[in-house]
Amino acid sequence: MRAAVISFHTCPLDAPGEKNAGGMNVYVRRLAQELGALGCRTDIFTRKHGHEHQPIEEIGEGARVIHIPAGPVTTPKEGLYDFVPGFTLGVLQFAERNGLRYDAIHAHYWLSGVAALQLRAAWNAPVIATFHTLAEIKKQARLGESEPDIRIEQERRIIAEADALLVSTSHEQIALERLYEVQPAKVLVLPPGVDTELFRPVERTAAHDALGLNGRRHMLLFVGRLDPLKGLDIVLEAMALLEDHDDVELVVVGGEQEGKSETVRLRRVADVLGLGDHVRFVGMVPHEELPYYYSAAEALVMPSYYESFGLVALEAMACGTPVVAARVGGLPTIVRDGETGFLVPWHCPEPFSQRIEMLLTNKGLRDSMGRAARERAALRDWNTVAQETLALYAEVAHTRRSRNA
Ligand code: UDP
Repeated sequence: MRAAVISFHTCPLDAPGEKNAGGMNVYVRRLAQELGALGCRTDIFTRKHGHEHQPIEEIGEGARVIHIPAGPVTTPKEGLYDFVPGFTLGVLQFAERNGLRYDAIHAHYWLSGVAALQLRAAWNAPVIATFHTLAEIKKQARLGESEPDIRIEQERRIIAEADALLVSTSHEQIALERLYEVQPAKVLVLPPGVDTELFRPVERTAAHDALGLNGRRHMLLFVGRLDPLKGLDIVLEAMALLEDHDDVELVVVGGEQEGKSETVRLRRVADVLGLGDHVRFVGMVPHEELPYYYSAAEALVMPSYYESFGLVALEAMACGTPVVAARVGGLPTIVRDGETGFLVPWHCPEPFSQRIEMLLTNKGLRDSMGRAARERAALRDWNTVAQETLALYAEVAHTRRSRNA
């Protein structure tokens, strides 16, 4: 089995946590590495976006990232649609030059889906589409979010024409059926995994020391790109409502999105709320250092307006840290309310504040939730995810071959 994975707009080698790189980059890279280890030769095709990477980079046994030139490297995501045909042509030429044939095409995000349908016409290999986010769902999640018509149109076409749709949660499956009238048989739900070797508990004092926190204060943690959709304002307001926040510090991990200056705005909100030096913005943190942050924190707070999955919740849980999350998107499939953390059904600071307070003031509760969180996260490693994905590739390839026979 040989798989072509398309990640047109964002490179899986980019550090997650800022600009356009986040959970999808981690997902694409880790899945490809595990697929390669299982013997499925996996090529990830991405747009050449700079000069920091070689045209072809090995990322593990049987897995590589291939950079295809398509449009100026600095083009923002919003302007990339016009370069899809040039990218597709580049992928076809690469395959031809190297005598490669692919048995399955796995597309991530709508722009890659457009490329994948073009590739299918040439290769006659099945297309598996994973959207990560869909415009219609995003629009419903938060007033004021708008997406270009071309995206909405093309997502509908990909949903209709792909051989299979792979989603992370049953929430997305239901949304596909409700908003796009997809036949349930076309959709497979496969939650992503977590790297349980990397994300494991570090002794709390050691974690504090490594981060220079001195173990003096309670620590709350937020990890994510600083995007208004992540709802960080709610955590700030919730912190201001704590009975006593003198001993509490909120550490905010994550970089800015391209061209936006959220840190300045959020810093101002924190100041207005009188939180002053209780909030620390540390910017983007290398993925490998995050276990220290998760382990040092008493709780991870995730008040997002929408998460198609929410990898950081699973990473925190793998480190034995309870999660206080909004009950949206994929988060209820990760967090068990009252068991591995709390799920809050409203986007208001008061209920977040109450749950945070319970965790900060009750070590017994924190420890038992942390243990349950760790056990639950351990069930979902990337090897398991890759085995299930490979079975899907084989099944859709078989179905397509039988249909064409
Ligand atoms: N991340 C990171 N460093 C940071 C911030 C985030 O490595 O400074 C990683 C984080 O560990 C997670 C991913 O970026 O794997 C974010 O994924 P998630 O699904 O939570 O959010 P998304 O960015 O996809 O909305």
